[in-house]
Amino acid sequence: MYVARILYPVEVLGPGKRIGIWFCGCKHKCKGCSNPELWQKHEKYKIDINDLMILIHQISDTNTVDGFTITGGDPMEQSDKLMELLSKLKHISDDILVYTGYEIEELNENQLKNISVLIDGKYKDELNNNSILRGSSNQRIHVLDKKQRNKYEAYLNTESNKIQNFNTNDGFVSVGIHKPDFMKW
Ligand code: SF4
Repeated sequence: MYVARILYPVEVLGPGKRIGIWFCGCKHKCKGCSNPELWQKHEKYKIDINDLMILIHQISDTNTVDGFTITGGDPMEQSDKLMELLSKLKHISDDILVYTGYEIEELNENQLKNISVLIDGKYKDELNNNSILRGSSNQRIHVLDKKQRNKYEAYLNTESNKIQNFNTNDGFVSVGIHKPDFMKW
């Protein structure tokens, strides 16, 4: 599988302190995408799922993990690997938020299994209204796991959109929902 980065604690893409996982590969090529460097599946980002789980456990064994946020790229471009990964992550936290450029109607039941919250649809630069969690207003937040509904309702009603910056081996990474002019800096 191809995963570009794992970051912790991500606090701007869902409630609490989360492990963020960025998949590589995306065919949608949305105008204004804030992660175009993740459209290609670069060989340097190839990782065995067991090795990925070792890295995740290195974080979760010693830190509070309130959930996972899986983005990219489009995680659904590696649907089989994503499903395998979700079945493992579920044992660490049952709050798993997944972003995809596909719409929920294009996905099947298996692909949605173990996803607590799905944010779907392509990013549209002209519909970016600085919302929390959603890059553009056409995207929908589907809370698929009833147990997560109150938590996400409270989060969406009380939190505002924020950006968080990380220094990584790959350089500076800015995480969150960016304003439309982010890529023009
Ligand atoms: S779906 Fe997401 S990662 Fe893919 S091009 Fe659109 S905004 Fe970028």
